[in-house]
Amino acid sequence: MENKDRKVLIRVQNLKQYFPIKKGMMQKEKLFVRANDDITVDIYEGETLGLVGESGCGKSTLGRTLLQLYNQTDGRTMYYGRDVDEIAPQYVLDILKSLVDRKKEYFVLNEKAATVKKQYDALPDGDAKYAMRTQLLEAEKNARDSFLDIVQLVGGFFVADDMAPISEVLVREYKAGVEYRKLNEKLNDTRIAYEGLRSTLKEKGKTQEQIAAGTENVLLQIKKQEEIIKIKERELEEIRNEIYKLMKKYESNPDFAKYEVYRDKGINLARLSEEESRKLRKDLQLIFQDPYSSLNPRMTVGQIISEGLLAHKYFDRNDEKLQNYVMEVMEKCGLAPYFIHRYPHQFSGGQRQRIGIARSLALKPKFVVCDEAVSALDVSIQSQIINLLLDLKEQENLTYLFISHDLSVIKYISDRVGVMYLGNIVELASTEELFAHPTHPYTEALLSAIPTTDVDNKKEAIILEGDIPSPIKPPTGCKFHTRCRYATDICKKVVPDFEEVRPGHFVACHHKIVNS
Ligand code: SF4
Repeated sequence: MENKDRKVLIRVQNLKQYFPIKKGMMQKEKLFVRANDDITVDIYEGETLGLVGESGCGKSTLGRTLLQLYNQTDGRTMYYGRDVDEIAPQYVLDILKSLVDRKKEYFVLNEKAATVKKQYDALPDGDAKYAMRTQLLEAEKNARDSFLDIVQLVGGFFVADDMAPISEVLVREYKAGVEYRKLNEKLNDTRIAYEGLRSTLKEKGKTQEQIAAGTENVLLQIKKQEEIIKIKERELEEIRNEIYKLMKKYESNPDFAKYEVYRDKGINLARLSEEESRKLRKDLQLIFQDPYSSLNPRMTVGQIISEGLLAHKYFDRNDEKLQNYVMEVMEKCGLAPYFIHRYPHQFSGGQRQRIGIARSLALKPKFVVCDEAVSALDVSIQSQIINLLLDLKEQENLTYLFISHDLSVIKYISDRVGVMYLGNIVELASTEELFAHPTHPYTEALLSAIPTTDVDNKKEAIILEGDIPSPIKPPTGCKFHTRCRYATDICKKVVPDFEEVRPGHFVACHHKIVNS
């Protein structure tokens, strides 16, 4: 299937992750470790995107930033596994309330980008032009971000000369939606409490009649809450009808459809508050490299797997269904049911990694970052865990970002591969395409270093000269130029564009390798 026909689950645009360094006494300039710099990539639903590169290139930081374990320094990370209405983040309300000013601001930024572009185009090729390129890209990015912020929420309404009435009705819809969701959450809590109470009474040996009498009050509460929700639902429907009528008014505008295509229900993870991110944490999971330190030694396997389920209110602590569910997940991950009361130290490395996987999978995530998930294991165990991850992906329709420095593991598990160097993705393609036609000099060097058993293989390993430069002061232009055997003058000055050289194959290099 071509990439354009696939559903995007995560869209990363111009992501930056910088970590500030404490200023020394004599130091004037504020310095940062530029762990991720201007990363743009789509991750499709149901795929495994492999991420490879030398240690320290920023792979793990990228994985953790996507999960918002770090506050993203800049850029957009859109998540399409849930509707923005479901979470109703504060940033959406802020944008909807200020549509009038935001649209004005967009025009100013757009104008600025056009002016910089004119100046840039007028310059002859040379140092002055190269220096201005960063300014141009920044101006274009600011205008694009401002545009997307608005248009992803209002779509075709962007054509309206007066955004005030649109802002008013959309804010009303947002607020009614928030109330509706809160009521539903409360109802869900009451239902869980009901199941817990029922299980407790049953465990105490109560008769059916006694259980019915003991849970009568909670059942009544559930009924009342359901009625209130129905009223809210009708209110919300009325507001949506108003929006629909307003839309009809603008639909005849020739530009309406052009803007409407931008409307989407994605959630910008980078803008969520701590609390809002927590709601999505069950969808976005991390499998750690080290199965030894990632499990609490004082908890049994059952407690480790249940922890997240209770925190995200899947079950009540007393609910009899909890244990069955935990055992079901354990079975899926190749763990015998009687392990449920054992502690992590009683298991081997491979089994502990299975426990880690079961803990993540129990929450039914949509996107899982596997951060060097097999590199701490013996080779024989590695393949078992990789096959388990592949089976689970099929069964649960998971999407993986699989981070590894081991190209043979990446080749085996990934549908597409991204190659990272010093904070940037320098090449991205389907696995087959990347291994058959490495087009970036860094990829070429990495692939040439894979050990082979083929005696006819006469290709020599390309030795990368020099150390990896510091991510605090990375080289100018193409960051790889200090180690690249094809580097020329332009490489030292101009950051290469990340271009599509063949369908779905992206490369950032001024002198791409031509493969037969
Ligand atoms: S842009 Fe230049 S330095 Fe960078 S990888 Fe390509 S050839 Fe090498």
